[in-house]
Amino acid sequence: MENEILCQLTLEWTEADRRRSQTVSPVPSKLVTIGRDPGCDVVLHDPTRSVSGIHAGLYWDPKTLSFHIRNLTRDRLPPKQPNPVWVNGRKIIQEELALETNSQIQLGRVVLSVKSIEVARRNQGDPLSRGTLDTLRVRCSRLENPHYLPPEYQGQNCPYCGHLVLSATLVIPPPEVGKAPQSPA
Ligand SMILES: [Zn+2]
Repeated sequence: MENEILCQLTLEWTEADRRRSQTVSPVPSKLVTIGRDPGCDVVLHDPTRSVSGIHAGLYWDPKTLSFHIRNLTRDRLPPKQPNPVWVNGRKIIQEELALETNSQIQLGRVVLSVKSIEVARRNQGDPLSRGTLDTLRVRCSRLENPHYLPPEYQGQNCPYCGHLVLSATLVIPPPEVGKAPQSPA
């Protein structure tokens, strides 16, 4: 329990000329639903009905320590043409994509932007402790054994393997790599 990781993501969008924002903090592996249906976790008001009732789902993946988005219209019953989810201009039907700060999500005519993603480890009695934030690192995009770098690292590419650095997402490294990264090869 003491290693439980808390994560939250803030969405921003414009609705009838009003700026809206909502922060979601999902239980790991549970979906945060987004759509026009009033039962969704994030309800979008779209008089043109370009957004589906239950259109997209966000979930926190504790393995990759990142938020992902899923198109929830892909398997609807009775079968209907899926309503695309667009992420940074990329059409998502079956694929599930990791989100980063500033990702743009388009559902129908509504564009939501990921304002922030925060990750922290729970301390006793402290729901989102800032005291553990000094353990956070940015991660390179190497799939197997990624490298963890200090959050202030400015380079675009990992100094160890050259993969892109995912500087928008702060993560808590697994314990065995929590120390200083290995020397560059
Ligand atoms: Zn690397």
